[in-house]
This record gives sequence, structure tokens and C-alpha cells, in this order.
Amino acid sequence: MRLTIRTNLAARILMVCAENPELLLKTAEVAALCNCSTNHAAHVVQRLQAEGYVSTLRGRSGGFSLSRRAEDVSMGDIFRLFEADIPFAECFDEASNTCPLRGSCRLQRYIERALDAFYHELDLVTLRDLVQGNCGLSALLTLRPELPASCAP
Ligand code: SF4
Repeated sequence: MRLTIRTNLAARILMVCAENPELLLKTAEVAALCNCSTNHAAHVVQRLQAEGYVSTLRGRSGGFSLSRRAEDVSMGDIFRLFEADIPFAECFDEASNTCPLRGSCRLQRYIERALDAFYHELDLVTLRDLVQGNCGLSALLTLRPELPASCAP
């Protein structure tokens, strides 16, 4: 089992936003922090904007920022948003399925239950849980000249 890169990038980008709540972020600088291409980051930001997680301001001094409180961003929702288009196993998509066992396969039901448990755990986690008091993450992602006072050495 492996997350798609875009889901992982969405989580990283949201963490950058949450670590820099007072800034308008540039896609290129966020891409550098997330170790991905600007193009790839831009696609993810576009999707996050379309779903109301970030808002953008155009222009030379523009950028994007989180448009919800970090405690209102459910990681379960983010994972669903970015993973939903890709069926976990081919039988999960009736239209493209080629597995001959579909219809009589018990494994499918157990995979569904395992996925429900997976998302249930993520539903318990918010963006705030990922960043609050995480000084190591702040050191990696902050674009401010200094770490938050609570993380000062
Ligand atoms: S073996 Fe079962 S779980 Fe796997 S693709 Fe076929 S129907 Fe789905």
C-alpha cells in the first residue's frame, strides 16, 4: 500500500501553510520546502483552492494561504479528496475492472473494511494535530526568520 504522491504533497503543503499562517506563500518556495517540482505543487494547490482549503491572491505580491482553521482541516477528508479517483484494487471500479473473481471474492469486502479503518484513524487527526507544538517541523518549514517563541532554544 502506498499513498499517491499528490496526497502526500497535499499534506506537506498544508503543513507549510499551517506553519506560516501569517504569510502569503509562493508556490515555488513551498515546492522547495516540500522537495517537489513547482508544477506538481501548483496542481495540488489548485485542487486545495477549488475545495476551499486555501485561498489565493494573484499578482506580484500574491500567493496562497490556508483559508480554514487548522483544527477544521480533517486529514481523513484530505486523503479522501486526493485518493478518491484511484480505486484501491481494480475491482473497486466496476467500469474498468478486469478481475474475474469480482462478485465472488471475499477479499474485496475485507479490503473495504480495512480502508474504512484506515480512514477512521485519519478522521481523528486534524492539521493542527500535525503542527501544534511540533518544533522539529517548525524548524523545517517556517519561512519566518525566527522559530515561534515556544520553540526557541
Ligand atoms: S482478487 Fe478480489 S479483491 Fe482482488 S481485484 Fe479481484 S475481486 Fe478485487
